[in-house]
Amino acid sequence: MTYPPPDDRLRHLLAQHINSRVTSWNLAFAIAGDLVHAPEVRAELDRIATAHSAGQPCGDRTCTPCAATDSRTAEGTPVAVAWTTSIQVSVLPEDNINRKFFTINVEYRGANRWAVARHGECLSIGETWEHEPTSSERDEAWLATHRFDLATALHLAKQTAPHLCVNGETAVDSYRRTQATT
Ligand SMILES: [Zn+2]
Repeated sequence: MTYPPPDDRLRHLLAQHINSRVTSWNLAFAIAGDLVHAPEVRAELDRIATAHSAGQPCGDRTCTPCAATDSRTAEGTPVAVAWTTSIQVSVLPEDNINRKFFTINVEYRGANRWAVARHGECLSIGETWEHEPTSSERDEAWLATHRFDLATALHLAKQTAPHLCVNGETAVDSYRRTQATT
């Protein structure tokens, strides 16, 4: 029997810490249960995880890796910040020869907005692929339906990726044809 149980790990980890501040384990475990079920807590965990998986700082001051500043740097001196600006989304694995045909790029377009792009087109909120006009021709109405926060852009890309079609073959067809099933 491993502790904490893998399927209830977060609650047990929280309860262990709460337990050092309260008088009974039952109380600690109940508080931990409330925390892990709270929708706003879960949403914040998702937000932080999404930022980290995109290689971006989550902005939470208690997140040591993200909040760390280089102690050698004098106050007011800018430090180099690394940003991920493009994320590939595909149902085909990295080593699959057809992956490049069935890949969507989620691309950062500034001002905290991301595009879901492929072959010079970008996905609309209605999940149709449309020609991407030059930046001077993109008005606010267009931006509102073709630019997303990162979580929404990744969701749309993942939702669309299985259905990409090249020469009559979908990404899922290609996966089944080329990935050995054992
Ligand atoms: Zn962080």
